[in-house]
Amino acid sequence: MARTSKAQPGSVRCTFCGSAQAVWRGYRYNALGKKHMMLCKSCGHKFTPDDGYLRMRFMPGIIRKAMELRRKGYSTAEVKLNLQRQEGVRVSRWTIIKWERKYGKKA
Ligand SMILES: [Zn+2]
Repeated sequence: MARTSKAQPGSVRCTFCGSAQAVWRGYRYNALGKKHMMLCKSCGHKFTPDDGYLRMRFMPGIIRKAMELRRKGYSTAEVKLNLQRQEGVRVSRWTIIKWERKYGKKA
């Protein structure tokens, strides 16, 4: 499940100014683990290269599983606990509600 596609410096463009003058600069941590951060030498902004999950903090599989549990009648609190125990993912009940609104329990 882990996507390890790592863009090479030089091929990545700054998400702020579009410059290709970006260098790797440490890591950022989220629910999925660590992500590379890049520093743009042109404008000085730090950013995360877009690997397809930039705007989606959680794997689609996690969302699908959450929606599946909701369809089975689990409460948002139970889904939250389930994801935490079985997937090692911490989400808020509000996040689950937002997924529901977005995917309508069909994901
Ligand atoms: Zn820049």
